[in-house]
Amino acid sequence: GEADLKRLLASVVDGLTLKAEARGIVIRTPDPSRLPRVPGDADELTQVVQNLVDNALKYCRDQAVVTVSAEIITDPALLRLHLPHPKGVKAAVALSVNDQGPGIAREHIPRLTERFYRVDTARSRDLGGTGLGLAIVKHIVNRHRGKLEIQSVLGQGSTFTIYLPMDSAPAKAA
Ligand code: ATP
Ligand code: MG
Repeated sequence: GEADLKRLLASVVDGLTLKAEARGIVIRTPDPSRLPRVPGDADELTQVVQNLVDNALKYCRDQAVVTVSAEIITDPALLRLHLPHPKGVKAAVALSVNDQGPGIAREHIPRLTERFYRVDTARSRDLGGTGLGLAIVKHIVNRHRGKLEIQSVLGQGSTFTIYLPMDSAPAKAA
């Protein structure tokens, strides 16, 4: 199949706008022309973006800004750096979700995509959820021959970026 990231992001943001507005949070979205179609499963990729934006809202303070941005990458060196299977791929999209939340300490970052892993167990439990969101994100992104990268600075915020090839078929489900 094919997923239109423009439509997909619009539907995710629509679904979370009330939740954001209730806390005075603004969700910034990229220039739609940067949002291509990618090969893959639209429902699964919607779940990916939904989980990332949901986390950004959930863990940031009221009145914060959540910024979704997108870049199309064609530089072969960058494709090799950010894609697990760069061979034959001519272009990829990098879709990032940035928040001005609490940030995540370095030692936790490699473990965030483990099932049920939560940084601050008590706080996370108060906020609800199960700790599966990022495990699902990683699984789906991998199936699409992409990569999830996490950058975070304590006290400053976090950026979750997914890299997806624009011109190769997703791996078949196991
Ligand atoms: P679920 O997604 O199942 O509702 P969850 O949000 O706790 O629950 P994940 O999305 O997998 O689970 O995230 C795992 C943990 O990573 C979270 O509990 C939180 O501690 C941390 N985390 C995720 N996103 C952010 C973020 N944007 N800022 C700060 N911490 C985050
Ligand atoms: Mg989550």
